Amino acid sequence: YVKKNGRFHYRFYRSEMSQAFPNEVLMEAHLRRAIEFDELSIHLQPQIDLQTNEIDSFEALIRWNNRKFGYVPPSQFIPLAESSGLIIQVGDWVLEQVCKNLQEWKVKGYRPVRVAVNISPKQFKQENFATKIEQLLNIYDIEPKYLELEITESSMVNVSETHEILTKLKELGVYVSVDDFGTGYSSLSYLKKYPIDIIKIDQSFIADINKDEKNEAIIKAIITLSENLGMDVVAEGVEEEFQEEFLKLNNCRKGQGYLYNKPLPVDLIIKEYLVN
Ligand code: C2E
Ligand code: MG
Ligand code: MG
Ligand code: MG
Repeated sequence: YVKKNGRFHYRFYRSEMSQAFPNEVLMEAHLRRAIEFDELSIHLQPQIDLQTNEIDSFEALIRWNNRKFGYVPPSQFIPLAESSGLIIQVGDWVLEQVCKNLQEWKVKGYRPVRVAVNISPKQFKQENFATKIEQLLNIYDIEPKYLELEITESSMVNVSETHEILTKLKELGVYVSVDDFGTGYSSLSYLKKYPIDIIKIDQSFIADINKDEKNEAIIKAIITLSENLGMDVVAEGVEEEFQEEFLKLNNCRKGQGYLYNKPLPVDLIIKEYLVN
């Protein structure tokens, strides 16, 4: 599990950031056909155990290469997919790809590693969401502990079904994490109400380490809070050694970011992390 050559340092520039979509209507029309045109793919980014420097899990991140407009970042099309309802199709596609990968790894005897999938509020609120997850686990014969679902605080506030959905997911045995923690407008009360396994500290906090003492106090508090609640904690967007030092010093369990690796295509991830 340990990376052979220590760690990688990635500084990359988006030269493939070709021309942008002129408008959202056109983007939506293209997104609607992205699956059938085979324009979507999954990249995986490692989440590292900071104590051992071993791989803990991966996060699946969607990539869209449009035949006409080139690479479109998720920050542009995920909100559009959410507002248009396309996120259901796109989200189902991501979940299925990840499950296919997990099944393939198992069949081929690769090292089993959990994969976290981002779930947007509209997906989470689907009446049959937990049932969908259960069916996928059955169809692809996956142990639930290898699947993690990342939800955001906005999926938990004002959703009356939250408790029922999270309880069902807990019963299934999949992991649930709260993504971008600390950036939403919600209260802390859901941390006691709901069965949550992992807190992911938003990358904006990590970016301000060594810049802002209040910010550091907040990171420490989140780490202590998750520890006391029996939850795991991941720092997102770790780019620099000094950030890692700070996190280790304050007992943060896991880290994710360019310091360890950028999100990579699945075949590269297999070579790098899953086969010897
Ligand atoms: P997120 O879930 O918080 O994912 C982390 C984002 O931070 C990813 O951006 C990742 O590439 C980026 N990142 C990782 N390490 C570093 C670092 O060291 N520094 C910096 N500055 N950034 C880092 P990405 O892939 O562009 O995705 C952006 C957002 O789009 C995600 O944020 C997530 O909210 C959403 N997203 C991505 N894939 C999916 C998906 O399959 N479904 C849904 N619903 N949302 C997705
Ligand atoms: Mg995420
Ligand atoms: Mg995040
Ligand atoms: Mg984010």
